[in-house]
Amino acid sequence: MSQQLKLMIVMLVAVNLAIVGWLLMRPETMTTPDSNSQRAVLDDLLKDNTMEAARYDLSKNAADLNVIFISLDALRYDRTGPSGNTDGLTPNLDAFAEEAVVFHDSTAAAPWTLPSHMSIWTGRWPSIHQVTNKLSPLSGGKMVETSLSAGIQTYPDLLIKSGRTAVGFTGGAGVQNKYGFGRDFETYLDDRYFGGLDYSIPAALEWLSANRDQSFFMFLHGYDVHGQFDLPESKRSSIAYSGALKGTIEEQAKLREDGLANIENPGDPAHLHGALNAADAQYLEAIYDRKVADADERLGSFLSQLKTMGLYDRSIIVIFSDHGDEFMEHNGLDHGATLYQEQVHVVSMIRFQEYGRRQDIREPVRTIDLFPTVFDALGIEGPSRVNGTSLLPLLRGEPLELDVYAESDYRLFVHHRMKRDGSYKLILDLLDGKRELYNLAEDAGEQKDISSQDPRRTYEMEQELRTWLDASKTNPQDYLGLKETPITVF
Ligand SMILES: [Zn+2]
Repeated sequence: MSQQLKLMIVMLVAVNLAIVGWLLMRPETMTTPDSNSQRAVLDDLLKDNTMEAARYDLSKNAADLNVIFISLDALRYDRTGPSGNTDGLTPNLDAFAEEAVVFHDSTAAAPWTLPSHMSIWTGRWPSIHQVTNKLSPLSGGKMVETSLSAGIQTYPDLLIKSGRTAVGFTGGAGVQNKYGFGRDFETYLDDRYFGGLDYSIPAALEWLSANRDQSFFMFLHGYDVHGQFDLPESKRSSIAYSGALKGTIEEQAKLREDGLANIENPGDPAHLHGALNAADAQYLEAIYDRKVADADERLGSFLSQLKTMGLYDRSIIVIFSDHGDEFMEHNGLDHGATLYQEQVHVVSMIRFQEYGRRQDIREPVRTIDLFPTVFDALGIEGPSRVNGTSLLPLLRGEPLELDVYAESDYRLFVHHRMKRDGSYKLILDLLDGKRELYNLAEDAGEQKDISSQDPRRTYEMEQELRTWLDASKTNPQDYLGLKETPITVF
């Protein structure tokens, strides 16, 4: 080899080394055009359905993944950042949402704790799983305590069967073990009546710190924003309000009962009209909002502990609420007795392992779909004959039309059924056969019943609703004209 050729090779190697060195050492700012175009390519790839399918197929490492369901009892969707609320009440939930699938139009199967959670547990409508109240009537008028039938398999049952240890840390009351929630769980905390996350989280963290290497299913729950969870007097007194209310849990319970007691005719809504004015309702809402902020702070501390323990990316985390709460939108307080949006429009978010970006789903979904979705991703078979279905097709951008229903037999006193058809919503009162139709796209607050203006749609939706009633073994004739007093266990 000639000297000249050798020199050329040495120079070429030197130039190459210099280029590689420059590429490695170049300042971050110089990479912007490149990384932007890379991101654009990546975004295009992510829009591809097959890429999305791969993202949500976790079946290969399913055995190593934990499943965590966090229930923020009574949290209204419209209090969260993703709803467009700008009050900044839920910074931690909002940060979680940035890495999760956010379902913006999610409906609970029932507007109160027990039947709603049981529908999530079983993937079935309340009238199918039959845990619609804490007491069930026997023939002869005798009441017995309700519990999920041993013959109905739950999603947690199957997570246990998949080799996971199941643990529950809850605020008790409507999610007590005795109703069937903690079947075969290793531990199930439920000894507080309307306890908050301030009680359930420390116990959950204690369990995790000793058992983090186990594969587990965890149910974490708190009543922090519920009307029966106290906001300390010191915080209440900082709210500007000059009316007569004190904002205590006893007062809230009395107002709720007064609202029910005011019902004169079967089928009429509870009403506190005259008992509470706009300023009173605003005060109660301000208390609620402060409790939302407190709950979010507790949630944030739990999620950050999961990260510290290395569990955040080894888990599928579902954050949901079981129902909302009313502040006089339909002349009542609390929840359970109606199926209006303030009570059934709930929070539903799923963070898949290491997913890392937000996906917004605007199509109507149901909370009974949460477990089926997680099971689909894990490649685990769910219980048979359920009403819920996997939402993975929606996540992959495929069409999925769901029948959205809700029902309430709150305290064996009201008997309402609801059906959605896109933005239209039909509510049927089984006691007097009265129906209401709303178009949520134009009337999100459900203030204008358009059933008489749109009789055809009302008729068609009612027929569909009645077909569903038949399938859920509900005979409307059994309810017409019933006049009952609410049972006092709730
Ligand atoms: Zn609840």
